[in-house]
Amino acid sequence: MLRKFINRVLTLGKVNPVALGEPAIIPVERHGVHRESISSGSRRVCEALRERGYKAYVVGGAVRDLLVGAQPKDFDVATNATPEEVRRCLRRSRLIGRRFQIVHAYMGAEVVEITTFRGALGNDAKTDEHGRVLRDNVFGSQAEDAARRDFTVNALYFDPETEQILDYHHGVADLQQKTLRMIGNPKTRYREDPVRMLRAVRLAAKLGLSIDPAARRPIREMATLLENVPAARLFDEMLKLFTSGHAVKCLQQLRAEGLHHGTLPLLDVILREPQGEKFVMLALANTDQRIRQGKTSSPSFLFAALLWHEVTTCWRGIQSEGEPPVPALHQAMNEVLKAQGEKLAITRRIASDVKEIWALQPRFEQRAGRRPYGVLEHPRFRAAYDFLRLRADAGEIDIALGEWWLDFQNADGEARAQMLLPAEGVKKKRRRRRKKSTTAAEETADATARDASEPPSEQEHE
Ligand code: ATP
Ligand code: MG
Repeated sequence: MLRKFINRVLTLGKVNPVALGEPAIIPVERHGVHRESISSGSRRVCEALRERGYKAYVVGGAVRDLLVGAQPKDFDVATNATPEEVRRCLRRSRLIGRRFQIVHAYMGAEVVEITTFRGALGNDAKTDEHGRVLRDNVFGSQAEDAARRDFTVNALYFDPETEQILDYHHGVADLQQKTLRMIGNPKTRYREDPVRMLRAVRLAAKLGLSIDPAARRPIREMATLLENVPAARLFDEMLKLFTSGHAVKCLQQLRAEGLHHGTLPLLDVILREPQGEKFVMLALANTDQRIRQGKTSSPSFLFAALLWHEVTTCWRGIQSEGEPPVPALHQAMNEVLKAQGEKLAITRRIASDVKEIWALQPRFEQRAGRRPYGVLEHPRFRAAYDFLRLRADAGEIDIALGEWWLDFQNADGEARAQMLLPAEGVKKKRRRRRKKSTTAAEETADATARDASEPPSEQEHE
């Protein structure tokens, strides 16, 4: 009975002092991460803070990634100095955030994020009606900071001076056993911040870990809590997930856990149809490959691909009601983005790039007159062309169209002109109007201006 009680106390999500023990100190001989592996910026930040008598460690994802031999995305530092004190130690630094202030230090080209140890969540922490923590801006001890982190593998502190790792929650052992384990009671931790469910899926896929059953089990029933998370936060997390280099695995896992409902509502619909699923999976496999080869992948391309099937379905529907193709496409694009935006706030800039990629698709069909030159000069040509190839690979359009555009790009002036199809159907009136603007650049400016201001005329889409 007593034992049961103690166990319950120990696993309570809100940090309790009994659980805040001393960390295991793991020497470099046992973990093999040397100070040369951490970025010079984070090393210098730690030195600067330590010279003034503060504690400073490289923490979180970077230590975890180095332990499994992966290249960290960034190096974060945790310290007991307050943000103001940090600023005084580092000349080129700036305070960020209003709620919980952190400091960005500019070390050459590198930006190092420095957080002050966070304190335990008190019982009076402000939450919404579902238990999601809205405000948590108390500083605390290093042990409290460790207990506030989500997974044991993320609560590791690397000391650049001694090369020791301070391990508060057996994270190193969990990493060796390839387990992603939640610190504290998983249900409470998900309630405090539902995004942790998505983080679990992403980190497990990225690091090849399996989610500990205790952390995995509650996800299905708690997935709906994601509905209360601000759309902008969900967008950031989904972007991380899809650009992790393991997007295919992440998506499979999201579906297995029933997590795709709350995040990309339309994805539900898309994945139910075989053609939509094929397209999305192909797009994600492409993105994974690019990222693993060290290439960049644009978020607009990704979201254009994720939502394309929905756009085409909607587009067909609007056309069947008698709307001409191009205005119908614009209407479909707006409807899909609007429906998606309620859950997942795709930033305005990305949304406008996504639209350009979509809007260029019908223009690829036009291979007569000067129009192909305009398409070629369009600022989004590259992404839109890649998108066209994706559609061809997915069997949505004829491979020959993609090939034609490849050859057209590579051909020189004379050969290019030879490739153009006979300009039938282009109305005389339009030709006359175009006579004045004969260069490809002028044509592009014309087309781009039209795209930006209004849906192209019906005539444009023969
Ligand atoms: P990656 O950088 O690969 O995306 P990460 O784990 O480093 O993964 P960050 O968002 O950079 O993710 O967070 C840095 C650290 O902050 C994490 O390692 C973790 O310790 C802590 N952390 C981040 N998000 C949460 C959260 N929602 N709840 C608790 N701790 C978190
Ligand atoms: Mg990180």
